[in-house]
Amino acid sequence: MTLTVRQFPCLSDNYGFLVRDDASGKVACIDTPDAEAILAELAKAGWGLDLILNTHWHPDHAGGNEALKAATGCTVVGPAEVARIAAPDRVVAHGDHVMLGDTRFDVIDTGGHTLGHVTFFDAADHIAFVGDTLFALGCGRLFEGDAAQMWASLQRITDLPDDTTVYCAHEYTAANARFALSVDADPALKARADSIFAARERGEPTVPTSIALEKATNPFLRAPLLRPDIANPAEAFGAVRAAKDAFKG
Ligand SMILES: [Zn+2]
Repeated sequence: MTLTVRQFPCLSDNYGFLVRDDASGKVACIDTPDAEAILAELAKAGWGLDLILNTHWHPDHAGGNEALKAATGCTVVGPAEVARIAAPDRVVAHGDHVMLGDTRFDVIDTGGHTLGHVTFFDAADHIAFVGDTLFALGCGRLFEGDAAQMWASLQRITDLPDDTTVYCAHEYTAANARFALSVDADPALKARADSIFAARERGEPTVPTSIALEKATNPFLRAPLLRPDIANPAEAFGAVRAAKDAFKG
């Protein structure tokens, strides 16, 4: 492991992430939900800030960019859509990579929640920051893209190695588990949901997750199995997504 990750709660249900390339001491934060909370965490760690890596433009992901840049002089890297908040110093897209000291993050197109959403993947350490694309037992809402785009994005994430540690940007897991149980009777899901409810009772985070765990139990990834009546996998996914949007559980 050459990357140290610090995860901490921000706003009502976001997570902030600071990552340090241990060889160089360079530090990045993944998204900027709350500049004050991120500065406090940097101070607690005794770290500076070199880079911001934005997954998408939403204010609870890029809203702290300007304050953090002003406070630290860091460089802002993100997809072009982040210009809706303020233009990033470097625009990245699918196939690009970003170096943090010796650590390389591959940029993967994971549009759908927003059109330009990206994921940052550290292939050496098997660590992915997926923003609001994939959640533990969930996935992001389709605010800008359609089911076909999001399904293709989810496939790019599940093509990552099974043991990839997946950092998603929100603690939505208990609500996601209640919906999952309403559409899937699989015993592995039931067992996972029980442990999630217990963890949340204890006030523990359920993030990060892993590719293997999500492939086995996430109802959005399992949509083609859950909806055998729909031949097209992306349409099956769209049907499960629509059911979640209407779920009142
Ligand atoms: Zn978002």
